[in-house]
Amino acid sequence: MRITKYIGVLLIQLIFLSCENGNQPKTESKKDSVYLAPPVVEFGFVLDSFQVFRDTVRPDWTMSHMFAPHSISQWDINRAAEKAADSLIGLRYVKEGTPFLVLSKLGDTSRTAQYCIYPKNIVDYIVFDFTDSVHVEKRSKPNEVHERILSGEIIQNSNLTFALDQQMQDLNMTGEMAEYIAGVFAWTIDFFRLHPGDEFKVIYEEKSVEGVPYAVGGISSAWFKHQGHEFYAFEYTLDSATNKVGFFNEEGKEMRRPFLMAPVKYSRISSGFSSRRFHPVQRRWKAHLGTDYAAPKGTPIMATANGVVIKASYSGGNGNYVKIKHDETYSTQYLHMSGFAEGIRKGVFVKQGQVIGYVGSTGLATGPHVCYRFWKNGKQINHRAEKFPSSVPMVDSLLPDYLEYIKPIKAKIDDMPITPYLQQEMLDTDLNEIKNPA
Ligand SMILES: [Zn+2]
Repeated sequence: MRITKYIGVLLIQLIFLSCENGNQPKTESKKDSVYLAPPVVEFGFVLDSFQVFRDTVRPDWTMSHMFAPHSISQWDINRAAEKAADSLIGLRYVKEGTPFLVLSKLGDTSRTAQYCIYPKNIVDYIVFDFTDSVHVEKRSKPNEVHERILSGEIIQNSNLTFALDQQMQDLNMTGEMAEYIAGVFAWTIDFFRLHPGDEFKVIYEEKSVEGVPYAVGGISSAWFKHQGHEFYAFEYTLDSATNKVGFFNEEGKEMRRPFLMAPVKYSRISSGFSSRRFHPVQRRWKAHLGTDYAAPKGTPIMATANGVVIKASYSGGNGNYVKIKHDETYSTQYLHMSGFAEGIRKGVFVKQGQVIGYVGSTGLATGPHVCYRFWKNGKQINHRAEKFPSSVPMVDSLLPDYLEYIKPIKAKIDDMPITPYLQQEMLDTDLNEIKNPA
């Protein structure tokens, strides 16, 4: 880690130096005759010592298209392709649009490749070495991890993902971050009932290469204000030997609860639990003893708690459905699935969060959604109004250490301001897209 950072600093210094040199007036650079421009380094190669050819993989290209113009024999190309396909390197095909480098000797008019560098992803790259027979190697750019903070608020007609989109540059990372936050608070906050004015703060790890962030490494603590109630979550290692890690609140109670708040992530409630509603298909008033979550067809449906599948079948009204018995008191049911997840059948044990099927509109349904039904002692109830048994506190012996550990982290979170939204105009157009998706 330290070394990585050091290399990073060195590189930045090199770049800085080269910029400075470029800006110097010519007369001065003449005077300063001992000044040597720093070498340009890319993928660990000093580019100044080579002729550098840059190209991009075009449609239907193979490695032959990349290497043949650089005097590599078909025999060597085949060996290179064979070695690249090795499971440790995993490059079977070159991908259209990938920019690559070919390096050949300075002054070599035949442009014979000595090396070819092909970036596999943002971190890893493949080096083809033709200097002495054919060698192929996967290398990685130094990966950096930084602690970052993030905060935001939920505004009218928006959701967590939207709020994160406003604060994070990379939309892939927004999705990851939403997963992490929803994961930590899944047992505490109903993400379908977020209110305008709800706020959040997160301390997280950001992974980057060459100063460009590309992934969320995880979140270490978070705070959510939901309808005026504040919820803290701190990651804490209970047992370093077994690496048992959990999230706990400010009193040391585990964030985990017996039931997830919803069987699908990031959808919306299209119909709540009620003893009387107008049925859209049957066109008559009847009770709706479940909660409908509308989501695109194929969205994974999760078991909201550990339990045993007691039904995985089809009926005219329910369509494909699964019923899970969790204990003597509680059972849950998931209707209108497009299909079951692999291995889901009567008698199998499922874990909380396990995918049991996929959103569909089989049975009596107007559009893709999952109708989630919750049974307590054989009676259907509104799970969103149910008070579940509270979570298990941390063992007493660990509590003092834990409370000491979270003190500075909590202070840091408390000091963090809530980042306001960006320009209002941008926001309005985005909101219209959310309301009227294409
Ligand atoms: Zn329903």
